[in-house]
Amino acid sequence: MANEFDALEPRDALVKIAAIFYARGWMYGTAGNLSRRTGENTFWITASGKPKGQLTSDDFIQYDIARNEICSSHSPALKPSAETSIHQAIYALFPEAKACLHVHSVDACIATNRFADKNILRLPTLEMIKGFNIWQQEPDVCLDVFDNHLNVPEIAADILDFYKNQSPALSALMIRNHGITVWGESLQQAFNRVEIAEFIFSYLARIP
Ligand SMILES: [Zn+2]
Repeated sequence: MANEFDALEPRDALVKIAAIFYARGWMYGTAGNLSRRTGENTFWITASGKPKGQLTSDDFIQYDIARNEICSSHSPALKPSAETSIHQAIYALFPEAKACLHVHSVDACIATNRFADKNILRLPTLEMIKGFNIWQQEPDVCLDVFDNHLNVPEIAADILDFYKNQSPALSALMIRNHGITVWGESLQQAFNRVEIAEFIFSYLARIP
């Protein structure tokens, strides 16, 4: 069913997605973070330090994009994900983005290390690229690759700065040696596109 995840309460849907991504090895430990926009200026995001294979709907905070602060949370003990600033940047840059999903996979790191030329990863001409709504016979598509910084807000600042004057070819970006961030016009679309991106990374990582 189309938009299956979007029919659920946002936190319940994100719990389900986290369990699926965890089972695939993309959210080991407490890695990765998932969010769903809930209004023009707010989104729910996974709280910091929660094992992604064992999330509950209480493990989220609601964040205000414009005010850059928590606006709702199950418990004052919950802290926003360390990478909330990246989600905030994506929602601020792309008003059409309704969900933003970030995972850490082995294949994404291998593919980027082996094939990225500075800050661009030219994608192979695979059928799966159509899943990003790219309809070309031999698609020439590049994924933007951002440098990883220990101080995550610096990554978010780089993203905001880079997309001030240009649009991404895909609704996705890669952080080097770290993981992919994908956004979509629905939660289901973002979920599907994470799967497609990871398919492409797996293909690249297997090239001898
Ligand atoms: Zn991360």
